[in-house]
Amino acid sequence: MQYREYGKTGKKLSVVGFGGMRFGKDEDYAQEVVHRANELGVNYFDTAPFYCDDRSEIIFGKAFRNMPKDFYVSTKSSLSADPTGDDVRRRIETSLKRLGRDKIDFFHMWCIKDLEQYRGVMAPGGPYEGALKAKEEGLLEHLVFSTHCKGEDIRTIVEEDHFEGVLLGYNVSNYPFRQEGVNAAIEKNAGVVTMNPLGGGLIPEHRKFFDFIRENDQETVNQAALRFILAQEGITLAIPGMGTIEEVEENVAVGDFDLKVSPKKLKEIEENITDSMNTLCTTCGYCLKCPQDIKIHKYLESYNLKLLKDEEEMKKRLKMLKDSGRLKEEDAKPGDCIACGICEDLCTQKLPIIQRLKELDQIGML
Ligand code: SF4
Ligand code: SF4
Repeated sequence: MQYREYGKTGKKLSVVGFGGMRFGKDEDYAQEVVHRANELGVNYFDTAPFYCDDRSEIIFGKAFRNMPKDFYVSTKSSLSADPTGDDVRRRIETSLKRLGRDKIDFFHMWCIKDLEQYRGVMAPGGPYEGALKAKEEGLLEHLVFSTHCKGEDIRTIVEEDHFEGVLLGYNVSNYPFRQEGVNAAIEKNAGVVTMNPLGGGLIPEHRKFFDFIRENDQETVNQAALRFILAQEGITLAIPGMGTIEEVEENVAVGDFDLKVSPKKLKEIEENITDSMNTLCTTCGYCLKCPQDIKIHKYLESYNLKLLKDEEEMKKRLKMLKDSGRLKEEDAKPGDCIACGICEDLCTQKLPIIQRLKELDQIGML
């Protein structure tokens, strides 16, 4: 495993970290998965309240009782759940208890989607103030932020210099759209952690489409996607979400690769990145507060195929969802959307959900 320094913190982090949002129901096994990663050299474990039905911090807390090696932990607080400094303070105390730690190594102001939200985080009496106070009291070590903003807005936040690093969505299908933020981090010598390095499952799901990113027959598509990210200047580490020992072993192996991309491959990848690839649904599920109970992520997951390939592929996918029972007859249909806009406000990728549902409705298959 290779290690890189996170900004100016002096901490050396494994280039492959652990995203704790994909644990299954078996909590004993989940702890084994965490231990296996740590055994193989992973020393950065990222969690958050609400991940895995709010069990992620608890699972990590149990696993942390007997970790094979030293490690760092990262968790978060969002403006929507914790709008005041006092709320953040309570959140930190809960996280510390769940994780069984005296201090959180990396604490994120979580999921900043635009500059308006950023200003909300920084407002007097707001979350940043609460976190800063907790840091002064020794409950947090490094104050950082996570974001789904576009590159220029990430630059604005980084340049205001309130944080030691950033966690951003960055992968082989969307990196040009976040690059400006990474460049700003390089200039400020801030740490950069990349979430969704496999496109929130999109890359493994569409292995055939992404096969062209591999540079040799020995590596898998997932490994090529991680290698690509880690070859970019300024990236400290990538944190794929992992739920099985097989996933850990596949991803962690990249930590021993030669972390480069050949100029020929880079050119090929650049030629294949289209604007529409920045608008793929990552099926994160953050939008699922629909008053009509529409399973938005399932419909938009199918729509991804239209963006990656063509409409015929999307239709095949919709048929498969119906035939396999993943979409039931009684489930709400795209045509049930009343365009209230709740989901679009919540969407981490700012996708035009209403328009996509309208298009799916017009196809008439559902
Ligand atoms: S806009 Fe449509 S899909 Fe989105 S929350 Fe409202 S009803 Fe549901
Ligand atoms: S529509 Fe947006 S919020 Fe909903 S699952 Fe897709 S990316 Fe996530």
